[in-house]
Amino acid sequence: MAIEKLLIANRGEIALRIHRACHEMGIKTVAVHSTADADAMHVRLADEAICIGPPAAKDSYLNIAAIISAAEISGADAIHPGYGFLSENAKFAEIVEAHGLAFVGPKPEHIRTMGDKIEAKRTAGALGLPLVPGSDGAVSDVEEARAIADAAGYPVIIKAASGGGGRGMKVCTSPDQLETLMQQAGSEAKAAFGDATVYIEKYLGNPRHIEIQVFGDGNGNAIHLGERDCSLQRRHQKVLEEAPSPVLSQAERERIGGVCAKAMADMGYRGAGTIEFLWENGEFYFIEMNTRLQVEHPVTEMITGLDLVREQIRVAEGKPLSVNQEDIRFTGHAIECRINAEDPKTFAPSPGTVTSYHVPGGMHVRVDSGLYQGYKVPPYYDSMIGKLIVYGRTREGAIMRLRRALEEYVIEGMKTTIPLHQALLKDPEFLNGDYTIKWLEEWLAREDGQ
Ligand code: ADP
Repeated sequence: MAIEKLLIANRGEIALRIHRACHEMGIKTVAVHSTADADAMHVRLADEAICIGPPAAKDSYLNIAAIISAAEISGADAIHPGYGFLSENAKFAEIVEAHGLAFVGPKPEHIRTMGDKIEAKRTAGALGLPLVPGSDGAVSDVEEARAIADAAGYPVIIKAASGGGGRGMKVCTSPDQLETLMQQAGSEAKAAFGDATVYIEKYLGNPRHIEIQVFGDGNGNAIHLGERDCSLQRRHQKVLEEAPSPVLSQAERERIGGVCAKAMADMGYRGAGTIEFLWENGEFYFIEMNTRLQVEHPVTEMITGLDLVREQIRVAEGKPLSVNQEDIRFTGHAIECRINAEDPKTFAPSPGTVTSYHVPGGMHVRVDSGLYQGYKVPPYYDSMIGKLIVYGRTREGAIMRLRRALEEYVIEGMKTTIPLHQALLKDPEFLNGDYTIKWLEEWLAREDGQ
């Protein structure tokens, strides 16, 4: 089928990103928005816009009935969920398909499998992905937990099966804490996610976060588009991402990428996905799979030249992937800075009205943002207001360009994390690519002490 009109079930920069890909493909767009987003850039640019509810996400961007009605009223033939909101809701994907609309995303059963952490780990293991040593599924019995922890070696981490966003995890350093921490983790998980199920993994002391971008056509063909290093995190939130990772060789990339692509082919996976790993001492350990487009996908686009949203839409139309693995060439280096409306020191949200705005430009500079002068950033949603992505032939070149672009970027009317990125890009350890998932929080604590 050919998609002629696509409804974008999201907001902010990703809604704009999807709109742009659609218009470049000759596809009309329908924006859906809350009352708080009536003035958003993607709403202005879309061919049609429908208000689906009040500001609270549960009443608008998570309101399945309102979104489906908007698709029917506008005559859209497909829905792209973006990231966050309903993007990893298997039920939503099923409802979209039951209404005869194309869901620009994976098959609902794959969303469901990967959304359950225990099921995801089991599936990943069966598909040959390297796992973190630990329990084979849920653990409720303390004696069983002891045996697993002894075999894996302390410290271990107790994780909630239904956890998300880095919540519901407890690190246990010795056998005598195990029982208490299991009980705590279980009751906290019950309170937060309505499910007390926990499982156990070896705790990796100081890993990097390296994820592999995969793409499948849903018919047994799949490719990988290399990795992104997303180790720079604060409270499990990514701050800056780069591709390629400073620590992987081409041979290692091809090896892990090949394993991931084969797993996706065997699964019959459809669309874009990201397989997240922790990486320590040259070894990869699967932690989860995201069955959607990621915030940081532009760095992959920069080093491969492939438009991932276009590819998603093609696959949703039932077309084959536009490239084979042999066609993909990784060239140069790309870095993305997430720009948040936050105080760069305390990270307190700082929504407000943009009183002055100037975007950087020039060669290999990309800004994905819905901001414009006079735009009022609503306080109801995520604080990310834009992404600055640059490309360079080398990592050093990309860093120099990023510094230059950050100097040019003017956003007045609110505090932003631009100064944080500027400081980071001067740090000698960052410049050496010498960082792990712990590094940024330690660096922030050091900066704070100065
Ligand atoms: P969530 O779905 O809540 O994001 P993940 O399983 O992706 O949970 O883990 C979130 C973060 O927790 C990881 O990025 C990593 O920083 C840390 N983490 C998870 N598992 C381990 C582990 N086995 N060892 C060390 N750190 C871990």
